[in-house]
Amino acid sequence: MHEQLRKLGFSRSHLEYVFENSIDPGLLARVVSASHENYLIQSLSEQCLAQISGKLRFSAESASDFPVVGDWVVVSDSSSELITQILPRQSFIARSAVGKRDQQILAANIDNALVVMAADRDFKLARLDRYLSLIMDQNIVPVVFLNKIDLIDEAELNRLESEIFKRHPHLTVFSGSIHQEKGLQELSESFSPGLSFCIVGSSGVGKSSLINYLARQHLERVKTVGSGTGRGRHTTTSGHLHILANGAILIDTPGLREVGMTDAESGIQNAFAEIEELARQCRFSDCSHNSEPGCAVRKAIEEGMLLEEKFTSYQKLKREAARFGQTIAQKRQKEKGFGKMVRQVLKFKKNNKVIQ
Ligand code: GDP
Ligand code: ZN
Repeated sequence: MHEQLRKLGFSRSHLEYVFENSIDPGLLARVVSASHENYLIQSLSEQCLAQISGKLRFSAESASDFPVVGDWVVVSDSSSELITQILPRQSFIARSAVGKRDQQILAANIDNALVVMAADRDFKLARLDRYLSLIMDQNIVPVVFLNKIDLIDEAELNRLESEIFKRHPHLTVFSGSIHQEKGLQELSESFSPGLSFCIVGSSGVGKSSLINYLARQHLERVKTVGSGTGRGRHTTTSGHLHILANGAILIDTPGLREVGMTDAESGIQNAFAEIEELARQCRFSDCSHNSEPGCAVRKAIEEGMLLEEKFTSYQKLKREAARFGQTIAQKRQKEKGFGKMVRQVLKFKKNNKVIQ
């Protein structure tokens, strides 16, 4: 049973929660797609269309209290089509990162986000910053795919890669071309079994092409969890959570693909370029912009040319890039021993008669 949970992306922290709250793991399911309060859910044994319980609805204070794709939910022990609880989200991607209350949550429990960038004229580091701040706020590990390298020469590619590296030294960056099927194998191998990832990026960078490639490449083996192999009722609902051939879980909804586009005005957009430019004028090249003499960043803040908050968020992003820029290998390492823990917990619960 635990293997099945893990295949669906169940994580250690969810497990701890389930354990602490004496939730029967047999009642867990993952939301595969959500539309108009109809939820296609995948449990350990079946998929079905489910609704939320009256209690859950009445206790909901905002849109974010309703299930979204990727959520782990608990179903009623009397009906597998009734959702009674949403497990706390380990991470989520929302449409508006600013307004805390009324943000629209697009997907939950995401481990990795693949930020697709195009290497052609559209390439803008400021955009990458925007996506990274959106992602890393949530403890989601970003991976970058620099697409369309068929449109540039090697010198230009080196230039772009080093530009990214200079700004975000800990970031994992792949480059390639979907048209030429270059770099894609490596990229798809970077996603680990049982980890959920999503694909984001500006319009036109190649997200749909990449998803088509993944679907083509893994055609017989791509299991669209929500494609309606269960009961007859949900034939019109399509899933947005797919298990790829290597076991990685792709969460793909149209809204998610476009996230960040609408947040263009969030103010992050140009802040980084601006600060980097100022930093180049500091007296010391390793200036930390705290109290060093001749600091151009401090001077700009004092003169009201640069908002203190912008600078703070810049520093935060830099720190987080260092913290969350852990390699995928490290993440994998962390997930090791998971199976053992699940077995221990289940054994414990069994001995304590929590599971019938
Ligand atoms: P989306 O808006 O991010 O989903 O981007 P699409 O997948 O729709 O791609 C936008 C355009 O870029 C389409 O015309 C694709 O054919 C093209 N495109 C995608 N990948 C590549 C690539 O590797 N090289 C080139 N030259 N064009 C590409
Ligand atoms: Zn400085």
